[in-house]
Formats: sequence, C-alpha cells, structure tokens
Amino acid sequence: MSKRDFSNLPLSKEMLHNLGEMGYKEMTAIQEQSLPYILEGRDVIAQAKTGSGKTAAFGIGLLYKLQVKKFRVQSLVLCPTRELADQVARELRMLARFAHNVKILTLCGGAAFGPQLGSLRHGAHIIVGTPGRILKHLKKATLSLEDVDMLVLDEADRMLDMGFSEEINEVLEFVPKARQTLLFSATYTDEIMDISASIQNSAINIKTTSTE
Ligand code: ADP
Ligand code: MG
Repeated sequence: MSKRDFSNLPLSKEMLHNLGEMGYKEMTAIQEQSLPYILEGRDVIAQAKTGSGKTAAFGIGLLYKLQVKKFRVQSLVLCPTRELADQVARELRMLARFAHNVKILTLCGGAAFGPQLGSLRHGAHIIVGTPGRILKHLKKATLSLEDVDMLVLDEADRMLDMGFSEEINEVLEFVPKARQTLLFSATYTDEIMDISASIQNSAINIKTTSTE
C-alpha cells in the first residue's frame, strides 16, 4: 500500500469507496500532508499551487467532522468569488454523495437575496459563500453560525487581495471561538501569516511545491 493511499486515513468505507468512484486513486501532496492533521482536529494553514487538490483536502476534513443527523450549519467555507464558491460546492456535493442528505448551500453576492432566504429557511449543514453576502445575512439574522465548529478560508490570499479582510473579521464575530480553522492559500505572504495568527490556534504550517 502506498503512503498516498486514502485508506491510510481513518475514513469511512463509504467515503473511501466514493473517492474511488470519483477517480481519486491517491492523495495529492497537499492532501497527504494536511489531512492527518485536519482529521485530528488541528488548525492548518496550507499553501499549495492552484490545481493541487486543496478543495478535497478541506472537503474530506469537514465531512469527516460533520454530524449529518444534527441539521444545523456546522461548516462555513469562505471563498473570494461566486464562481469559486460554486466550484467548491460542486466538489463538496460529490464528496458527500456517500452520506445522504448532506445539505450544502451557497450564499454569494451577485445572486438574488430573496431565494437565499427561502433556502436558508429550509436549513443546511454547510454554507459556502463570499464574505459580503454572508455578512449581510448575519446582520439581518437570516443566518445563524452559532453551531459552526469548522471554518475554512479558501483562497485566502485572493480574499485579502480583494479587500475582504474587514468583512472576514466581521463574519468571524458570529462564529464560535471553539472551532477548527483551516486556511488555504496559493501563496504565502506576511498578510496570510498575520490573519492566521489572529484567527487560528497553534496552526500547523504546510507548504508544498508540487501539484501532484
Ligand atoms: P486547488 O483548489 O488546489 O486549486 P482543486 O481542489 O480545484 O485544486 O483540484 C484540482 C483538480 O484535481 C480537481 O479537478 C479535482 O477534482 C482534482 N483532484 C483533487 N484531488 C484529487 C485526487 N486525490 N486525485 C485525483 N484528482 C484529484
Ligand atoms: Mg481551490
């Protein structure tokens, strides 16, 4: 068995089977290095190039932690754009296929507000979205994040470049402090280290160069 096999991880047989169905034969470098810590519940800051499989790294982690029977928002994934949020939600839905009834909702700016209210009333386990729109729902109390125990900042460098840092901080005021926080980025800058220091606890730092 290769050290890259997903079966080295404490994943359910349904999840392992599903990964096989998705054609994910082995972990990519960033998955191999980050998933053991993510599944242990550690905060992780992971830097790896675009296309290296970062979505599945946090996706497998958040689904591992999710309690499907508890129908409350337990995971929040912040993304810089609607397109990226849609991509992340698509991958999470594929990863969650083995677990019936995992409800994943996207909340992004540029989409109509009204239908989002309707979807929120039906509830969700996982919210994926852009900081501005999520903040708008929080301020109107149409979204509660009080049961969130997993926060993911995807493409954190891009969110900072786009000027979202204030909105991210405001969103975080609505998220419990007792949580796991994962921060993914394609680059590693002082700003990224600063935000990690302010929102993560004893984060494990992982950097990879290969996309394999
Ligand atoms: P990143 O977020 O690092 O830019 P993505 O998460 O979008 O990268 O992944 C890039 C592509 O690799 C996607 O098409 C995804 O389905 C695929 N992928 C992810 N993990 C694996 C894996 N372990 N084996 C094969 N393909 C994978
Ligand atoms: Mg990505």
